[in-house]
Parts: sequence; C-alpha cells; structure tokens
Amino acid sequence: MAKKPVRKRRRRESLAAKTKRIGIALAIFAIVMIADETGVLTHLVSADAAFYVVSALYVVPYLIAGHDVLFRAARNIRRGSIFDENFLMAVATLGAFAMVFFPDSSPHMAEGAAVMLFYQVGEIFQGYAVGKSRKSIAAMMDIAPDFANIERDGTLVQVDPDEVAVGDVIVVKPGERVPIDGVVVNGSSQLDTAALTGESVPRHVEVGNLIISGCINMTGLLHVKTQRPFGESTVSRILELVENASEKKARTERFITRIARLYTPAVCAAALAIALLPPLFGLGSISDWVLRGLTFLVVSCPCALVISVPLSFFGGIGGASKLGILVKGSNYLEALAAVDTVVFDKTGTLTNGTFNVVAIHPEAGFDPDYVLSFAAHAEAYSDHPIALSVKAAYSGPIDETRLEGVSEESGHGIVAQVDEYTVLVGNDKLMRAHESHFHECNLAGTILHVSVDGRYVGHIVIADAVKEDASQAIQELKQAGIERTVMLTGDRAEVAAAVAAELKVDEVKSQLLPEDKVVEVERLLEAEGEHGHLAFVGDGINDAPVLTRADVGIAMGAMGSDAAIEAADVVLMDDRPSNIARAIRIARKTMGIVWQNIIFALGIKLLILVLAALGMANMWLAVFGDVGVAVIAILNAMRAMRVRNI
Ligand code: ADP
Ligand code: MG
Repeated sequence: MAKKPVRKRRRRESLAAKTKRIGIALAIFAIVMIADETGVLTHLVSADAAFYVVSALYVVPYLIAGHDVLFRAARNIRRGSIFDENFLMAVATLGAFAMVFFPDSSPHMAEGAAVMLFYQVGEIFQGYAVGKSRKSIAAMMDIAPDFANIERDGTLVQVDPDEVAVGDVIVVKPGERVPIDGVVVNGSSQLDTAALTGESVPRHVEVGNLIISGCINMTGLLHVKTQRPFGESTVSRILELVENASEKKARTERFITRIARLYTPAVCAAALAIALLPPLFGLGSISDWVLRGLTFLVVSCPCALVISVPLSFFGGIGGASKLGILVKGSNYLEALAAVDTVVFDKTGTLTNGTFNVVAIHPEAGFDPDYVLSFAAHAEAYSDHPIALSVKAAYSGPIDETRLEGVSEESGHGIVAQVDEYTVLVGNDKLMRAHESHFHECNLAGTILHVSVDGRYVGHIVIADAVKEDASQAIQELKQAGIERTVMLTGDRAEVAAAVAAELKVDEVKSQLLPEDKVVEVERLLEAEGEHGHLAFVGDGINDAPVLTRADVGIAMGAMGSDAAIEAADVVLMDDRPSNIARAIRIARKTMGIVWQNIIFALGIKLLILVLAALGMANMWLAVFGDVGVAVIAILNAMRAMRVRNI
C-alpha cells in the first residue's frame, strides 16, 4: 500500500489573529518605550544595567511581531530568491540592533523594533484592503445559484443546475435566483437585476419574456423553459469572465512588477555602497554610514507600488462590475482610458434591435399574409433581430418541417428552401446578387424583399426605434472628450442617415457587409494617433470580427450573441450604450489613481532616500517612507472601487 505522503502544512494565520498579535506587540513596545524614556528602571538597577535591560526588552515585541518575517526571509534565502521585502526588513532591523557592536555608536533598538512593528501594521492594513475589494468581487460572485427546482411527479425537487437539460422547465420561486437562462412559460413577476446590471428598478416579466440567470425573482412564481445549459448561462459566463480578469495584466502593472524585481537588488547594492564606500575613503565613521545604509533599505521597500497598483485596477474592475460593466482585464481598462474614437454598430447597439413591421407591400395578386408567411418560415432558424421581429409579426404557427436548406448571407439576408421553393428574404443587395427583380420602396425603414422561386412577391417594411439613452450616450462621450463617433451599419442609407441625425454621431457609413465593417475600422485605426485608441461597440450579430479587431471591443451582453461576449473585451450587461461613457470614466479614474500612486510613492521615497544618504533622515522618517506611503497609496487605490456617482 502506498504510503500517504506526510506533508507539513503550516496553517496561514488569519488576519484577525495577526491583528491581535501585532496589537499585543505594539502594547509591549509602548510600555518598554515609556520605561526607556522615563528611566524608571534606573530606580531598580544601575544605569548601565538599565540600558541593557531596556535594549533586551525591545527584542520581545520585535520577535512577537517579526518572527514570521525573519522566518520567511531565511526560507527565501535558502530557496535562492533572496531579494524581497522580508529580506529588506530583516536586514534593516537586525542591522539596527547590530549597531551595538560599533564601539562609537549605541544600538538602535527602539527604531529597529518600530520598523518591524509598523511594517507589520502596513501588512495588516493591506490585508484588509485586499479583502475588502475581494469582497466586492465576491458579492458579484454571489450571483451563482446553488440549485434549480424541477417538477417531478407533481413535487418540486432541488437539483444541481448542471443537471438541468436544455428545454426542461424549471420553477423559480419568489426570493430565489434564476439559475439558468430561459423563457417564461407560466407566471409573471418582478425581477431584481441589480446584481447584473446595477439597475435598481425591477423589471416586469411575463410569459414569453427571456430572462437571464443571476436575477432575483421578487414577487411571483415563474415556470421557465431553459434555453441554455447552466455552463453557458449568463451567470456562468460572467463568473468566468470575472475570474479570468486578474490574469490579463495592464502594461503599467507588468511594468511595476518588472521594476520591483530589479529594484530590490539594486537598492540593496546601493545601501551596501552607502554603508561601506564613504568610510573606506575616510569620510566619517562607519557606524554613521551603516545607519544611513539601513535607513535607505527601509525606505526603499517597494510594497506601496507592488500592492497599490494592482489593487487600483482590481478596484476599477470591481467597481465597473457593480454597474453591470464587465471588463475582462486590467489591460482593457488601461486601453479604455485612452479611447478617443468610438465606433458603433447600429442595429441592436444604438437601436433596440426589435423591429416592428410597419407595412407589407405585396405585389399584385399576392396576399400580405402569403409574403409574411414565407418570410417567417425562411427566417425560422435565424437569431438576427430582423428575423425575430418577422417571426413575431407572423401570427400563424411556424412549421419547421416545411423548411429545408437555409443559408444566412450576413449583411444580405436569407436564402432558404421552403416547400421546395427557393425563398429569398433580404435587402436589395441580396436581390441583385440573385438577379431577382424587386421594387424600391420610399417608406422610411428597413426593407425586406421577398422572392419565391425567382418571383418577386413583395416587401415588408420594418422599423426599429433608437434606444432610450442612445442620444445621451453620444452626448456623454463628447463631453468626455471623445473626438470621433462613427456609426457603421448594414442597413439602408436612408435609415442610417435618419438615425445618425437623431443621435448626432459625427460620421456614418451604411450598406456595409460585415467584411466592409472590418475595412472601415481598419481605416479608422490607421487614422488614429499613436496614443489614441479605438473602441468598437456591437451586438456581435455580424460584427464579431470587428470586435476583435478594435483596440477595445465592447459587446452588448443581454441581447448580444455568445460570439460577441466571447470576442469582446468589455461587456455591457444591460445593453445601455450610456454605460460606454461610464466605462471610460471609470477607466480614466482608475488610471489617474494608478499614476497618482506611482508618482506619489516614488517621489516621497526618492526624497527620503536622498535625505537618508545625506544622513538627514532617521529611521522614523524611513518608517513613514515605507509604511506611511504604502497606507496612503492603498487608501487612494480603494477609491477606484467607488463608482456610484461616476
Ligand atoms: P447592422 O450593421 O445595422 O447591425 P446587419 O449587418 O446585421 O446590420 O444587417 C445588415 C442588413 O442585412 C440588414 O439591414 C438587412 O437588410 C440585411 N439582413 C441581415 N440579416 C438578415 C436576415 N436574417 N433577414 C433579412 N435581412 C437581413
Ligand atoms: Mg448588428
């Protein structure tokens, strides 16, 4: 029998336990310091003895607080990765104590112990800050449902959401989370979508509505026919996005990590040079210079940056997610901050994507219902917003067995075999491509020409309304200093021009095929300055390639296709275009905080380093340069999480 490997596992100390330990150490330190300053011990023992007793007493809080740091420093030296902050702290504090060996200097016991104590205070602080931002992400994670109710033999049973098959009907009781995306088949209710979209107004849903997982059912009992497996439902996809977000590091972040790796050995070398070189050339006493070198080590600890920069990004991503804006990594937050051109798709992005049939114009001898029926059947399998609205307008049942061989020609329309007839449904391009005769129509709207077996039977006029906040979205982008807004669409020029005029976008290009959109975006990308970035916003229907091509691809998450959510870098959960400007503002605020921290921390440290080298900074100032700066930087980083009024 194989022996189970015995592995020594040291339990990680909880933050609360550490806080208590450091609290005790601080209290003892304070008592020793009072005893030291007031000289009470001299009443008990001789002055000389009192000095040694006090010095020894400082070691007690030092070891209580710092034994783990010393241990880690020793372990890392054994492992060969010497230079980290544990090492810096161990050398600086032990060095301060070792001053006792210099005959012309007294030991710096109080300073040494204080450095270690405050270093640990900083660590605790950092632990709480990281915990807090983790919690805001965890609140987001909380949207994961644990079970789904399924009716079996007349009773409700709770099953693992993973076990529910597509097409099964699940029951969602009031107060429960919707576990899987689906369509309501029975009941009506109010849904709380705040966790997903940040929208606080509940959404009314009834039979026929699509509901997405992660929302909370508030009032009524709902029967939902599932449309996707659990693993592909909105909740699962969001969680995956959020979990992977921290892997995509921003350039600034990678830069800091790289710097930190070179930086610590460099400051150690510099400290050594400060301690040894000047006395070698006879400039003052060695003890004086060693102390300067040690002070130098304490200040130079890079933790203020190493922690606060990723924490800022983490906060920005977490804050954005509270508003229903999912950013897939800090690199995209960084890119968003530099966006100066925003390119939009029209249908489903700036417009609702739910068309209404405005008119049906059959050719002489045909019935309107005949035209609509063929169109609805040809579109049976399509998810294009146009297809959905045609199917919605058709009152009769759609018999899918009549349908054979469908091909969707993106940007054109559909070619299908219905009852052995070849049916074309699409725009004038489709008609021309298939050399079918058609009639122009001067009604405003998108025109769907329908031809059956080479015979033009008429057209359907459909219209789409612009989204409620689309105009505000463009305005806010302009206010945010976005230089150029462009709308690209596959729709007719008339429709495109009307929408562009209503929304006041700067440029519009119509009648584009998906590949033309890529060409347009590439042209715009070339026109970009070196520091400018281009964002493309789409619903992923016919525009997933552009989403990948842009510097930042932004997808509509609720209406958008899976391909879009996959291809995009930023996903807007509630499909509101006004969230684009908010996302950019969050990104800029985060980058602002990141740079404030970098400049502040490096600036103060550099100043104290120079003072230390000149012998004008003592250990106390150095402790501020390390812990004080770190705490301020962390507090600043946590501002990135606050997005309520952005
Ligand atoms: P947009 O760029 O506005 O999002 P699309 O590229 O998705 O538009 O489609 C462009 C045009 O192609 C539509 O306006 C329509 O005329 C035609 N079209 C695309 N898909 C379909 C379809 N399934 N049925 C009919 N027409 C379609
Ligand atoms: Mg589209």
